[in-house]
Amino acid sequence: MKIFIAVDMEGATGVAHREHLLPGGNDYERARRWLTSDVNAAVEGAVAAGATEVYVNDGHGNMRNILLDELHEAARLVVGPAQARNKPLVQVTGIEEGGFAAAMLVGFHSRAGTPGGLLSHTWVGMLVHEIRLQGKPAGETLLDAAIVGHYGTPVVLVTGADDVVREAKADLGADLETVEVKRVLGPSACATLAPKRTRSMIRDAAERAVRARAGRRPWTTTPPVAMDVEFHRREMAQRALDTGLGVPISDRCVRYAGPDVPSCARDLWRGLEEALREDGSFLK
Ligand SMILES: [Zn+2]
Repeated sequence: MKIFIAVDMEGATGVAHREHLLPGGNDYERARRWLTSDVNAAVEGAVAAGATEVYVNDGHGNMRNILLDELHEAARLVVGPAQARNKPLVQVTGIEEGGFAAAMLVGFHSRAGTPGGLLSHTWVGMLVHEIRLQGKPAGETLLDAAIVGHYGTPVVLVTGADDVVREAKADLGADLETVEVKRVLGPSACATLAPKRTRSMIRDAAERAVRARAGRRPWTTTPPVAMDVEFHRREMAQRALDTGLGVPISDRCVRYAGPDVPSCARDLWRGLEEALREDGSFLK
């Protein structure tokens, strides 16, 4: 049995501050260990429930955060940057292979604009005001659930702070298995449990969730699919449109329409990549 684990870092045990999230940041190296501990716990639970192969996609920042030397031996790590030519499905690249019995989202965070959220954003914080899937505001939890759902895989577990736990249950069902590793106090502050504690919580929840996978449906929608991205500024939307993908629906908003969620997500990601591109210094 194959299991897929998508990993982000904002929702990892102990992570509260931007400094934890970026190479060179104070305590970043330590935060990588907390993150790897959360991931190992999920892999361990999956293996206890019968998994024979576990894909782990490092889906945060430069996507090279998880410590391979410390990673559980049952895991296969998807590593490398989220560029269209490298990881077009970003945090769930690898799912296209198909045949995954269940997916888990480990270390996830709440969507852009979440009132009182911890490190809240959607995919690229500096660009994205909001992403809507079929008209409904969507965070990374729902977006990833929709992509893996296209390949027939249900999300069975989400781990992170209490804000993302609420979001995941609202979007994916109140009966979703979740682990709250910390409570939000402010945009960069939380009351976290220690890895020694969350390790067994995540391990046990992952085992329960994988065993109960038959009770969860893959997230699906009726085509055609529309994904709208509302940028912070209209120059960003204009740049995104330079890809020739998407259509403008307002000054700051671009719509990606297509037959399924992965194709829209791929195009949207290309738009974000283009919107991030800098002009040469002689043009500034
Ligand atoms: Zn992240």
